[in-house]
Amino acid sequence: MNPSQYAQSHFDDFIDELKRLVRVPSISFPGFPKEEMDRSAQAVAALLRESGLENVQVLLFEGGNPYVYGDWLHAEGKPTLVLYAHHDVQPVGREELWQSKPFEPEERNGRLYGRGAADDKAGIIVHTSAISSYLRTMGKLPVNVKVIIEGEEEVGSSNLIPFLQKYSQKLAGDVIVITDSGNFDTGVPTITTSLRGHIALEVEVKVMKGSLHSGTWGGPIPDPVMALSKMIATLVDKEGRVAIPGFYDDLRPLNEVEKQSMQLLGYSDEIFRKQAGLFPGVQLLGGDINPWLKKTRLPSIAIYAFQASSRKNAGNIVNDSAWCKIGIRIVPDMDPKKVMKQLQDFLLKQVPWGVHVDLKPLSADTWWMTDPQGPVFEKARRALTKAYGKPTVAIGEGGAIPFIRPFSELLGGAPALLIGVEDPYTNAHAENESVHLGDLKKAILSAVYLYEELGEQ
Ligand SMILES: [Zn+2]
Repeated sequence: MNPSQYAQSHFDDFIDELKRLVRVPSISFPGFPKEEMDRSAQAVAALLRESGLENVQVLLFEGGNPYVYGDWLHAEGKPTLVLYAHHDVQPVGREELWQSKPFEPEERNGRLYGRGAADDKAGIIVHTSAISSYLRTMGKLPVNVKVIIEGEEEVGSSNLIPFLQKYSQKLAGDVIVITDSGNFDTGVPTITTSLRGHIALEVEVKVMKGSLHSGTWGGPIPDPVMALSKMIATLVDKEGRVAIPGFYDDLRPLNEVEKQSMQLLGYSDEIFRKQAGLFPGVQLLGGDINPWLKKTRLPSIAIYAFQASSRKNAGNIVNDSAWCKIGIRIVPDMDPKKVMKQLQDFLLKQVPWGVHVDLKPLSADTWWMTDPQGPVFEKARRALTKAYGKPTVAIGEGGAIPFIRPFSELLGGAPALLIGVEDPYTNAHAENESVHLGDLKKAILSAVYLYEELGEQ
């Protein structure tokens, strides 16, 4: 049996391994049990060992969540691939909206549902399955591999720099393969060539010591919810474009490859509406520009959370404070620090009624972009096309993976291949997250072919 046959005939085992990982609620957000992150790291380490990787260890460092490392370095004279995925997940959101429990993986209609089933525990499975398919059939790999599974991607890789400083020697390699993105559509093999950056800011408006009875006190008191609503409403114009002066000054125009890809894709408002699950009549914002461009190569803004009292405790009160978390997605060549400052300066100009405002910058991560040319990208395109049986597209992605840029810089600008198993129906970060099992199988096969391609010089 050769590695690709092994991968096909053992796919059910790989699904079981994925389920095992999904059962650990490895939410890396503050306030969630740290023990689960440790348990998750141990589960990943066990899987790496079972796959035949050597020197498997949980990498700990001051203040950070555990990473997991394993390698196989016996392909003398062959390139070293650094294979990345992450084992931490987002919180589950509104639990009542899940059709099956988020941490009890369930197969339905050819998909596996569960938090992390796609983002990004499927990414771990792609690496380990391809590796074990080689080691269990040939006893060796055509390339050297170093597997690095991060534990804090979902919280913006906040301790990445100290991590890289501590372990840079260990992570040296020739090509980075990041399995944490998605395909343009189900069954369409995709290499991601750019990512948007991300800025997050908390805003809190306070007016008094404590909330008050709205009948006894209501009238003279500025309502903090109204004040904050007024402030954030000024952030966009009628078309939903960001109204901060100078916000769009630094946008990099599309290059020729991007323009060609855009034409090939045939993406439309209708497709976007369907994939997003938009209700009829809801307007698409941002003017007459292809929605794929809007969600990958143009900046965007959203209010992630807004809090003042709660639906459960909605008493008849004037609230003492209101809070929100604002997120901005930035694109080449916007500067994250500059945008963060623009956002804060703009908001402070909008403060009504003398209310007190606290601004708390949470993160400012930059975008990433690569030029998908050269032998590594050609080999990757061949491997993906062979596994999926369809031409490979190269396009931008809207999400952020803060790890990539500093990591590839650390490796002297090593080419970074960004691929993944998500599709437009994955619902990553939202309720009912799932992975398409047909695409997971194809992703594993494409990893098998990729190692083979990169092993040939
Ligand atoms: Zn991810």
